[in-house]
Amino acid sequence: MPVGGKKQDPIAHEKESATVASPISGREVELPAMWNRMFEPRVLSNHSPDRFAELAALPGNADSLEWCYGCGKCVPVCPVDSVGEYGPRKIHRKVQTGIDLMSDPDLWLCTTCMNCLRVCPKEVDMIQIMPTVRAAAVADGKVPVELQDVFEKTFRYGNALGENPRRRAQWTRDAGVPVRILGSEPGPVDVLFYVEDYWSYHPRGVEAARAFARIATALGVDWAILGPEEKTLGDSQRLAGEPGLFDALVEDVTTTLAKYEFQRIVTPDPHGFNALVKEYPKRGFTYDVLHYTQLLSPLIENITWAKPLDLKVTFHDPCYLGRHNGEYDAPRVLLSAIPGIDLVEMGRCKENGYCCGGGGGGMWLDGFTRDYTSERLSERRVREAVESGADVLAVCCPYEVSRFEDAAKSTGNSQLQVRDIVELIDAAMAHEPTA
Ligand code: SF4
Ligand code: SF4
Repeated sequence: MPVGGKKQDPIAHEKESATVASPISGREVELPAMWNRMFEPRVLSNHSPDRFAELAALPGNADSLEWCYGCGKCVPVCPVDSVGEYGPRKIHRKVQTGIDLMSDPDLWLCTTCMNCLRVCPKEVDMIQIMPTVRAAAVADGKVPVELQDVFEKTFRYGNALGENPRRRAQWTRDAGVPVRILGSEPGPVDVLFYVEDYWSYHPRGVEAARAFARIATALGVDWAILGPEEKTLGDSQRLAGEPGLFDALVEDVTTTLAKYEFQRIVTPDPHGFNALVKEYPKRGFTYDVLHYTQLLSPLIENITWAKPLDLKVTFHDPCYLGRHNGEYDAPRVLLSAIPGIDLVEMGRCKENGYCCGGGGGGMWLDGFTRDYTSERLSERRVREAVESGADVLAVCCPYEVSRFEDAAKSTGNSQLQVRDIVELIDAAMAHEPTA
């Protein structure tokens, strides 16, 4: 409790034993330690504010970890706790007892999914705490090897996969429709489609990118891409502890964007979407930004369907589209419009949606987290999808198709299909067969 503006360290009142007078008989009764707590204010005896002071002194914002008052609401909603020992309350207690969070493996397990902040009465903000402490750890060279590799690839090539930037638009060759690249066909355009890394390069991502290209073209959307000039928007690298790399990317990306005339940016990546909506404006760059589900959902009635899909589908809310940015409806509008689809919800959905494990740098830390968790978050989520009775787990984040497909295989649930929403729309338009 602050007294005269200064925080007072608590004094331990617990005693080996205590003697209290009975209010009825007046007789003195001796009580052992665990009972005498009831008669005097109880405090945690093993407590030090020093580690909190260290965190608060870091550049960034890690102050709120100290605000925790131990109510425990965050623990059951934390996806990492369901596969390990985690949650802000537990981290708070560890720091209170003197652990150095900067050197502790817990630092890298949080996926910044935001479910704890949603329920925390004290607004302990892991979305600020984790990136702040991680940035200090990275500066100190205490970074998991696989994450360091991604930082280096991003710095060198402008994408997390370490792919050649000249091959950014290679996916367009097999799209089946012409795709305009602004560098070669300049001029005003309505939608600048910011493809991001996994839809540009990943073997499963490019299939979704091609499906989007066919759908957008069929709907008459005036759209184009940056192609080789595109670099990642860098939000996951920022949250994983590389704010300097993020700032450099902001500079490069905005310089490229300034060369072209467009009305809106549309991206399939909720992480990129989050960066453009929340982080770029803080640095002076504001755009009209949509996730692809928000572009397509008002246009869905214009689609000419060719065949019903006859599938039971469940949908996984991406943390950075749902909880972080409040969009739960657009993906469901699209799925509900596809003929033949029976949409069922998993128990944990929308505001309380489970995390795939890919956020906040988790996408690149599966090897590291394996040592501290009983199973991957994506594996837990696949089990939930199977329990819902669905044939298909539908997604709309480029991280998720490969994560969930791997998890379906590793949990022995290969019968569960994992499809991006655009792949389902594309199939029902009969551009592509469903597998
Ligand atoms: S919900 Fe907030 S106050 Fe409660 S234990 Fe968790 S971090 Fe602490
Ligand atoms: S942000 Fe998500 S993963 Fe991180 S501590 Fe909170 S609930 Fe757990």
